[in-house]
Amino acid sequence: MTSAPSGQAPAENAALAGKLPDPVCGMPYDTMYHEFSVYQNDTVYFCSPTCKRVFDKNPEKYAKSLGL
Ligand SMILES: [Zn+2]
Repeated sequence: MTSAPSGQAPAENAALAGKLPDPVCGMPYDTMYHEFSVYQNDTVYFCSPTCKRVFDKNPEKYAKSLGL
């Protein structure tokens, strides 16, 4: 694993493709995210446990903002 600040690794792009952004704070999905909730058939990832808690309190509201 090397981290290249310039240029984009295709494999990494594939990993990020189709991932939903954190709907609570609007941060784009990152592979470092460890928090997630399953809403219906979609897995929603969060930057922090705080965002997950906020989502879990009102998943419909945030799912709507994701277009789910
Ligand atoms: Zn967040």
